[in-house]
Amino acid sequence: MTDKILRMDRHELLNLIKNPPDNLFEEARKVRDAHYGKKIFVRGLIEFTNYCKNDCFYCGIRRSNKNAQRYRLTKEEILSCCETGYRLGFHTFVLQGGEDPYYNDDLMCEIIYEIKSRYPDCAVTISFGEKSRDTYKRYKEAGADRYLLRHETANPAHYGMLHPKELSLKNRKKCLYDLKELGFQVGAGFMVGSPYQTDEHIVDDLLFLTELNPHMVGIGPFIPHKDTPFRDFPEGTLQKTLTLLAIIRIMLPKVLLPSTTALGTIHPKGREMGFQAGANVVMPNLSPVGVRKAYSLYDGKICTGEEAAECAACLKRRIESSGHVMDFSRGDSLVE
Ligand code: SAH
Repeated sequence: MTDKILRMDRHELLNLIKNPPDNLFEEARKVRDAHYGKKIFVRGLIEFTNYCKNDCFYCGIRRSNKNAQRYRLTKEEILSCCETGYRLGFHTFVLQGGEDPYYNDDLMCEIIYEIKSRYPDCAVTISFGEKSRDTYKRYKEAGADRYLLRHETANPAHYGMLHPKELSLKNRKKCLYDLKELGFQVGAGFMVGSPYQTDEHIVDDLLFLTELNPHMVGIGPFIPHKDTPFRDFPEGTLQKTLTLLAIIRIMLPKVLLPSTTALGTIHPKGREMGFQAGANVVMPNLSPVGVRKAYSLYDGKICTGEEAAECAACLKRRIESSGHVMDFSRGDSLVE
């Protein structure tokens, strides 16, 4: 079946999404196990600012949301999150934030450089939106290893329905190609069940992913946020998200594929089910507990109350109970 999926055209992919075979998850697990075994890689997520100059219609920290309690972490606070993570055994730190110009290139590079000097055996991942090639280059020179930038949707018309007009798919894609060219390990991805998304759009996403051939792919269900224009849209479904995780695993065998917090939010066992569908990464929260609720991209986000150590212990139980092993190494992508 896996060979067949690798050769599918647009029409066949559409049919696969609509009528997934019964053994899809089993096949996806086989592909993952062949490359990565039962290892689930851990990344410590640090949500360092929820200020954002963008106004994406789906996102709870969009600039128009006047109800958001805004915060910024200082360099020292970020470093202290890393210290906590390192003590827990983590070897990847993911710095994610809204597009907050307060963190100019000098400050970002200082932060990246300092983390890499203190923890040279760790990987630093940045998830800080669209920047110029020059800025990405500076991040790389400061020591950043990876960059997460979901493409959100590979269909230009659909992109326009999710974003204000100053944002374009063209620029988003350019960023991803710039990042790849600069030598970052790159993550793309999209929301499942975002407003107006059709199965045809999802086929566009899958085809774009095979073209880009990223090192990582982040997908999770869309979940409405009460203070956004999309408050009344339904959330993406568990089944569709799991089906797409499995298809992506088979289409991009060596990709790193997180079982996301959003998936754990729509179902109490969502992340475990993600592992069964071929996912192999989790990103426990290292942000200070005091700011976790404020980094609210969608309603009902889980893991906002626990200390990092509790989060890690809880994830370890979930990983082991589903027959996998928590892996604390850097966990670099096998994608060349
Ligand atoms: N500013 C950064 C980080 C964005 S937050 C950037 O532009 O890349 C990370 C991801 O959260 C987004 O890429 C988006 O896919 C997801 N997200 C945002 N709002 C969401 C929602 N309401 N439901 C589910 N996922 C959401």
